[in-house]
Amino acid sequence: MPEFYYQIKGRLPDDQLGMGAFNSNWEWPPLFSDKVEAPNKKAAKLLIEEEYGRQFPLRVLTKDLKNHAFLLSISEILPEDDVMRRRFAFLDCKECTARFRIIDKFNNPAERDTGPDFCSQSCAEEGRLRRIKDYDLVCSGKLPAVIYLIRQLSTGKCYVGQTIRPITLRWWQHLTYPSESKFHQVIKSTPLTDWQFQALETIALPDDHPNKAAYINDRERHWILHFDCIANGYNTVLPSGAASAEPELEFDLPEP
Ligand SMILES: [Zn+2]
Repeated sequence: MPEFYYQIKGRLPDDQLGMGAFNSNWEWPPLFSDKVEAPNKKAAKLLIEEEYGRQFPLRVLTKDLKNHAFLLSISEILPEDDVMRRRFAFLDCKECTARFRIIDKFNNPAERDTGPDFCSQSCAEEGRLRRIKDYDLVCSGKLPAVIYLIRQLSTGKCYVGQTIRPITLRWWQHLTYPSESKFHQVIKSTPLTDWQFQALETIALPDDHPNKAAYINDRERHWILHFDCIANGYNTVLPSGAASAEPELEFDLPEP
C-alpha cells in the first residue's frame, strides 16, 4: 500500500505573517511530521484527521488565515525516494552507537541536528571534534594509519584494508556492520574460525608529503596487489591515489 508523508504546520504569529521561508505564513519546521499508509491521498488525509480528531485544510487563502491555525501537507512517498525513506529508518549514531530515526529529531523542537550520522546535536559536535582530532593525530603521526590483512584460511583468499582506528576495532566493525560487499557476504556465511586478522604495515608518513591520504592509499594498493586481492580475493577496487576509495576511512572532514 502506498505511504504518504505528512506535515502539520502552525500559523505564524500575526506580526510575522508572510515572513516565513518563501514568504510563507506558516512556521518552519513543521509542528509534526510523520507518515501513514493509505490507498490514496484522500484516504491518507482522513486517517490523519481521525488520529487528531479534527480537520486540517490542505490550503488556506490569505483572507481565511485568521480562521485556520494549522495547515496540512501530504505527499506520496515514491519507492525511489531514498532520502524520505531514510528519515524513517533506524540508524546507528556514529558517536554513541544509539539507534535513532531522523524523523524523531524533526519532531523534537529542542533538537537542532537533523542529519543522518548522529543521534543528537551533542553527539554531532562530539563526533566532529573527534574526527578532527583523529585526523590531526594521523597527520602528526601520533596515531598512524595501519594497513591490515584479513585472510580466509580455507581458501587463502585475502582482503586488505586501511584504518586510522585501533585495528581490532576495524576487525570488529567488519563483523558487526557487514555491508553488501562480496567480502562481508562471505564473512557472514562462514565460521569466524576460518578468518585470520593481521596488521601488515604501520604507515610512517614522510614529512611534508603533499597528500597524506594518497600516500596511505598507495601503500594499501601495494598490498592489495601483493596478495592478489582483487582477481583472487575479497577487495573489489584498488584505492585511487588522490581520493580514498573506501568511505569508511573517514578522511573526509566536515566542511568548516
Ligand atoms: Zn549519539
